[in-house]
Amino acid sequence: MSMFNDIERVLVSEEEIRQRIATLAEQMNQIYSDDDPPILVCILKGAFMFLADLTRQLSFRHEVDFMEISSYGMGTTSSGVVRILLDLASSIEGRQVVIVEDIVDTGHTLSYILRNFATRKPASVRVATLLNKPSRREIDVPVDFVGFEIPNEFVMGYGLDFGEQYRNVPYIGVLKPEIYQGVDQS
Ligand code: 5GP
Repeated sequence: MSMFNDIERVLVSEEEIRQRIATLAEQMNQIYSDDDPPILVCILKGAFMFLADLTRQLSFRHEVDFMEISSYGMGTTSSGVVRILLDLASSIEGRQVVIVEDIVDTGHTLSYILRNFATRKPASVRVATLLNKPSRREIDVPVDFVGFEIPNEFVMGYGLDFGEQYRNVPYIGVLKPEIYQGVDQS
């Protein structure tokens, strides 16, 4: 049985994602230049596809680096516990930084990353997130570039997983309720 049978509906289509990323890239192209190339920090694993599509639309020189953060188990809600599984390879001291996130939900993950980065003395930090769930926010976090505001629903696809699967689905979708059954959502 195809994994596509697990999907209840499409929330954001491939075409909508493509167009929106082009707009976000235009905004960034206005801000950054080759005079001071920023580092784009992709927050793994969920943002890998967003980074890949975004970086190809940027016209200024930049570097990419990766950081892996864990705050979720198999469930679908945040425990508020954040761990660094993989740290940056490069120093961000004195550099312009763009954090590239898949989704800002409660804000705990991003808040942790921002506090952690502040200790490394970057010249500036901005945040780009493909998805934003403002109704779920528990901590106020600044977000500079937002792809889509979405309702309080658990989404997957385009890099976002459920139980480490479905990341390859090319759009943002919602799973059928029976797929979640039997999974601890705490
Ligand atoms: P926060 O710390 O803001 O609550 O959660 C941020 C992280 O939780 C995201 O980077 C993402 O990994 C995960 N997350 C939050 N909401 C969703 C969702 O609807 N679907 C998926 N797949 N992951 C989510």
